[in-house]
Amino acid sequence: MATTPTLDIEAIFGENTFGLTEMKNRLPKSAYKSLVGTIERGERINADVADAVAMAMKEWAMEKGATHYTHWFQPLTGSTAEKHDSFITPNKGGGAVTEFSGKELIQGEPDASSFPSGGLRQTFEARGYTAWDPTSPAFIVENPHGSYLAIPTAFASWTGEALDNKTQLLRSMDALSKQAVRALRVMGHKDVNKVTATVGDEQEYFVIDSELYQQRLDLQMTGRTLFGAKPPRGQEMDDHYFGSIPSRVLSYMMAVEKELYRLGIPVKTRHNEVAPSQYEIAPLFESANVAVDHQLLTMITLRRFASRFGLTILMHEKPFAGVNGSGKHNNWSMGTDTGLNLLEPTDEPHEEARFQFFCAAVIRAVYKHQDLLRLAAATAGNDHRLGANEAPPAIMSIFLGSQLTDVFEQLAGKGEATSSKSAGTMKLGADVLPTLPRHSGDRNRTSPFAFTGNKFEFRALGSSQSPSMSNTILNTIVAESLDEMTTLLEERRASKSKKATIAGIESVVQDVINECGAILFDGDGYSPEWPIEAEKRGLLNLKTTVDAIERMGKHGNPELFERYAVMTVPEVVSRQEVMFEQYFMTINIEAETTERMARTMLFPAGSRYLADLAATLDSGDEVGLSFPGIKETAEELSQVLTDLRAAIVELSKQNRELGGDEVHDKAYHMRDNVIPAMNAVREAADRLEVLVPRDEWPLPTYQEILFDKEA
Ligand code: ADP
Ligand code: MG
Repeated sequence: MATTPTLDIEAIFGENTFGLTEMKNRLPKSAYKSLVGTIERGERINADVADAVAMAMKEWAMEKGATHYTHWFQPLTGSTAEKHDSFITPNKGGGAVTEFSGKELIQGEPDASSFPSGGLRQTFEARGYTAWDPTSPAFIVENPHGSYLAIPTAFASWTGEALDNKTQLLRSMDALSKQAVRALRVMGHKDVNKVTATVGDEQEYFVIDSELYQQRLDLQMTGRTLFGAKPPRGQEMDDHYFGSIPSRVLSYMMAVEKELYRLGIPVKTRHNEVAPSQYEIAPLFESANVAVDHQLLTMITLRRFASRFGLTILMHEKPFAGVNGSGKHNNWSMGTDTGLNLLEPTDEPHEEARFQFFCAAVIRAVYKHQDLLRLAAATAGNDHRLGANEAPPAIMSIFLGSQLTDVFEQLAGKGEATSSKSAGTMKLGADVLPTLPRHSGDRNRTSPFAFTGNKFEFRALGSSQSPSMSNTILNTIVAESLDEMTTLLEERRASKSKKATIAGIESVVQDVINECGAILFDGDGYSPEWPIEAEKRGLLNLKTTVDAIERMGKHGNPELFERYAVMTVPEVVSRQEVMFEQYFMTINIEAETTERMARTMLFPAGSRYLADLAATLDSGDEVGLSFPGIKETAEELSQVLTDLRAAIVELSKQNRELGGDEVHDKAYHMRDNVIPAMNAVREAADRLEVLVPRDEWPLPTYQEILFDKEA
């Protein structure tokens, strides 16, 4: 027996990233100092420093075996893209030298025409460029046959419009920092110069056997099963949650985690999730920009490593109908460069007022921009979760926990009078807050947006999504709230004294809660009463992705992003266009795959079985037996095949129609006509599955995919 390999995490952590320590060791002092200024204070990088960094980075990468480099960027599809260039440059003598200049580090030129731009980029100016993001460390990607250096970059058109998801996130972080610092200054925190949005994403995913995956065209083409009757034993398998992890899956997870450590990604927890074969991985939080890059790298690594273990990862939001889907919980807070978490409750009155102010800013932001948060979670895949009876509903609301709710209600002047009330509202708040557990005990898993002790957890995101847009939105809407609330505070407080400032904050927070309190909901978000109650409160219920995308270009949304210099109006419109297009394409491909499988695999399986039954009946005639059971089965089967055939014909017709020329119209056609037609095919096919003998059914069943897993 081999001895258990040990893993020295401290030794390997970050060994494949070009981080600050490595830079310090390799860069001239002045270049290093200047680079730190760029990373920490956003100062512009000059050409000499870029050359020095490029040289050091190349040397380091080549020592790690890299022969190529790539500008790694995030096109609007939500995934990542790269184009590799070698370090090699031929020299006169017929040999070659390796070169990598500051210019090549700072700027690259991939062919932009193959990435969606939502109409931003005319074909005659198809060029785009990538620009180095020094705030996210470069890293090495290894392959058994070689390695390359990946440099995180932004991606923009030559006319300056962002064509990616990173640029807008960085801009939103600046907007948030600016407004948060301003608020803190008004509160007397002169020492804070920067506030960083912090993010930690919990990622859910399914792990299945690759052999079974290979037998399912639907999983391969669309990431989800388009067919599959419910297994006899389903969701009620609560024992899977936090149960032990099968050893093949565990080996795989350990290999992934080791790789992530080497990439400097601080993964912390792993566990089983609610559904059979479902798992979760979560890191420690980091600055939003780095956290998003790391989240994308985590997804890539999870996919890349699975095949080594004969496994396949499903990151779709709903790979199996009737089985719990996969989400991504986006934990979000704000931290100062002096080490404060602005969403951490404290019991010191002045700090407590600060906490309430920032917390109220988030409450206000969510209330005012329910549509944008819904939009952040809007994809074709996530429509199977949101609003379905197992995930956060499509209605946005905030869970604060009873103690914090109590504090805010009392601040708003509508709470019950308590004995300490006479001591003043803030004092009263201070009485309650210290007892608030850091990790609030009364958890509410049904809320899409929950305060969890020292951060907010946005739970509506889909597992396959990049968390970039959601954090861009969060940063922007909270920046707006802080901006407007700080202006109010400045107007209202009688003087700059501590006491007057606290009174001013109290008054601003009071108004916010009175205006936005409808968004606070501590009850069961899955209950049938909630949508009715939410409607009474005037909350939005944007049931489908299309409803959410529709609002993106209206209701002051483009102007909001423009006001905080996060996206220009054309950039917002372009993203809306891309979202409609992605929605349309996703459903269109699903519909084509449904039709193909139903026609070429499932219907034939049913008709072969029907032929068997008919032959048996014929043979009965010869010996004078009527086989009534077989006859009834044949009749039932024939009916299902008739229904299936009719459903296929209808789907085929709907999916060819497309609904118009604009992506907008196509998206609506997909939602309103193609999805129902697809559902009808599935309904008939799932009835067929439970009639046809198992050995004649051409697809691995839910039972086999989800439960029959050898350890
Ligand atoms: P919980 O038990 O509430 O889920 P954890 O501490 O396990 O709390 O955190 C869950 C996720 O929240 C982790 O990814 C963690 O890094 C992240 N997180 C914790 N604190 C913060 C913060 N201040 N800002 C952003 N994310 C955070
Ligand atoms: Mg959580």
